[in-house]
Amino acid sequence: MTPEQRAAEFDAADPLAAFRERFILPEGVIYLDGNSLGALPKATPETMQRVIGQEWGEGLIRSWNSAGWFAAAHRIGAKIAPLIGAGAQEVIACDSTSVNLFKLIAAALQMRPGRKVILSEPGNFPTDLYMIAGLKRQGLADRRLAARERLTQALDEDVALLLLTHVHYKTGQMHDMATLTRAAHEAGALVLWDLSHSTGAVPVDLRGADADFAVGCGYKYLCGGPGAPAFAFVADSHHSDLGQPLTGWFGHAAPFAFSDDYKAAPGIEQLLCGTSPVLGLAALEVGVDLIAEIGVTRLYQKSQALSEFFLACLAAHGIALECVSPPESTARGSQLSFRHPEAYAICQALIARGVIGDFRDPDVLRLGFAPAYLSFANIAAAARHLVEVLDGGEWQHEQFSQRAVVT
Ligand SMILES: *Cc1c(COP(=O)(O)O)cnc(C)c1O
Repeated sequence: MTPEQRAAEFDAADPLAAFRERFILPEGVIYLDGNSLGALPKATPETMQRVIGQEWGEGLIRSWNSAGWFAAAHRIGAKIAPLIGAGAQEVIACDSTSVNLFKLIAAALQMRPGRKVILSEPGNFPTDLYMIAGLKRQGLADRRLAARERLTQALDEDVALLLLTHVHYKTGQMHDMATLTRAAHEAGALVLWDLSHSTGAVPVDLRGADADFAVGCGYKYLCGGPGAPAFAFVADSHHSDLGQPLTGWFGHAAPFAFSDDYKAAPGIEQLLCGTSPVLGLAALEVGVDLIAEIGVTRLYQKSQALSEFFLACLAAHGIALECVSPPESTARGSQLSFRHPEAYAICQALIARGVIGDFRDPDVLRLGFAPAYLSFANIAAAARHLVEVLDGGEWQHEQFSQRAVVT
C-alpha cells in the first residue's frame, strides 16, 4: 500500500476529520507551522465583525459591562484551565508570555527570600532566559543553567525557582513535569512551567504535578491569532502571598474605586496589569472554544498518530534524515525536528511547494503537526514533497538561501 492509500484509510477513520471544516485553510497549502501560528478558525472573522461593529461601534463603553469585556480575561482563563489540568480560578488570559514570565519569576523570587537563583536549561526558549536577565540587571536574580540530565543535581538551597519549557520549542522533547516539580519542591524551590508548545496539543496536569506557576501562548495551538494574549496559571494556594511586580490598576482589588493605594485583587485577577486587549481576547476565545470542544485527549491521540505516520512515510520512501526529536511519540510534543546543514534552504524549497514548516537556527527543519486541522493526506503529501526536494537537490537553487527576518 502506498503512503497515500494508507492516509486515505486513516482519514476515513479519523474522529477529528470533520473539525478541519471549522478552519480556513488556503488552497494548495499544507500547513506544518501551527505550533508557531495556529490556523484561522472560520468563526473568528464573524466574531471579530460582531465585536467591532456591534460591541465597540454601537455599544461603545457600555460594552465593558454589557458585552462581558471586563470578565473576558477570567472567562477565557477558565476555559483554558481544563486543557492544562488547572482549576477555573487559577488561570487568566493576559499580556504576552514574556510579560507573564517576568511577573511570575519576580513573584517567585519574593516568595523565597534569601534565594536568588533561577535554574533553567541551556537552549530554553530565548525569551524565558532573557526575562531572567532583566531581573538580574535589577539585582534581583542570578541565572544558573544545567543540561536536562543534570537539572535535579543543580537544585540546591540557593535556587528560588526552576523555570522550564515543558515541550522544547526546537526539539519537541517533553520534560517529566511531575518528577521535576517534586524534585524542585524537595529542594525548597518553586516551579514555573512554560506551556507554549504544550497547550492544546499534549495533555498537561498542573494540579496533578503540584506545579506552582505556568505561562503559555495564545497564538500557537490555541489558534488565537497573531500576537494573541497569553495566559498565566498560579496555584490557588499561592494566591494570598503572590506579590507580582506589575501592579497596574486592572489587578487591583477594586479598580473602579480609584484609590491612591494599591491593593491586589485576592484571586488570579491580581496578575492583570493594564486594560485588557478586548479585540485580541475576542479572537483568542474563538480558538480556545474550538480547541476545548475537540478536547485534549483526542488532540493528543491524533498528534501522535500524525507524527508517527510522517516518520513511516519517510521510511517508506527510504529517506534517512537525522531526527532530533525523541523517537518515542510519548516523549515529544506535536512536532518533529530534523537536523540538516542545509535546513534553511530545504525549508524554503518546501514553502515554495506550499508546504509550510519553519527553520530554527542553526540547522533544524521544524515540522509541526497541529492535530485540529491536519489530515493524514496532508502528511503523506508533505513527506513526498520533502523526499522530492531532497532527492532532486531543489534546495540548491540560489533563491532558497536568502535569509528572511522571521525564519
Ligand atoms: C512562542 C513562545 C513564547 C512566546 O513569547 P511571546 O511573549 O508571546 O513572544 C515564549 N516561550 C516559549 C517556550 C515559546 O515557544
